[in-house]
Amino acid sequence: MKVLRLQYEKNEILKKNKAIEVCFKCSTCSKFCPITQYVKKYNQENSFVTHLFEAEKSEALNDVWMCCACEKCVITCPQDTNPTDAFTNLKEKSYREGYAPEIVYRLMEQLLQEGTVYNIKFSNAARKRAGLTEIEKNERAIKELNILADKTGLVRGKGNN
Ligand code: SF4
Ligand code: SF4
Repeated sequence: MKVLRLQYEKNEILKKNKAIEVCFKCSTCSKFCPITQYVKKYNQENSFVTHLFEAEKSEALNDVWMCCACEKCVITCPQDTNPTDAFTNLKEKSYREGYAPEIVYRLMEQLLQEGTVYNIKFSNAARKRAGLTEIEKNERAIKELNILADKTGLVRGKGNN
């Protein structure tokens, strides 16, 4: 039974997440999804999951970052659609195409420069005030992270789809 009409990147997303075709909008996931529960524009009838399954491409690629990957939808879905998996693929696509929130790109740049998602200089200032030893950059980890980023195409603005 095919009941869902996807508006964005039908082939690409469906190829990886065939199961979402059988979502029949039962709203079971919406009772547990924190985004549907706490973000005003969603409700039981228009849940985060079903809305994103049907959203236009740019809207889906923007809003998908609200998903915190808690997997409550995966556990509760009677159709085994695995929305978390579909949304992980959408996040990857969103990142590649420049739709991710600015903070995501900044954290990635920080990670590739210092090997941590926090600023070591500021952290060390706080540690010094607390009487703790300073931490150092892990150059080997930074080198490996940059190799991985190169190999996976994890660079802003350079799509690898
Ligand atoms: S629980 Fe599954 S089938 Fe029901 S609306 Fe959510 S994703 Fe679709
Ligand atoms: S994984 Fe995402 S879509 Fe699923 S319940 Fe959690 S926040 Fe909602």
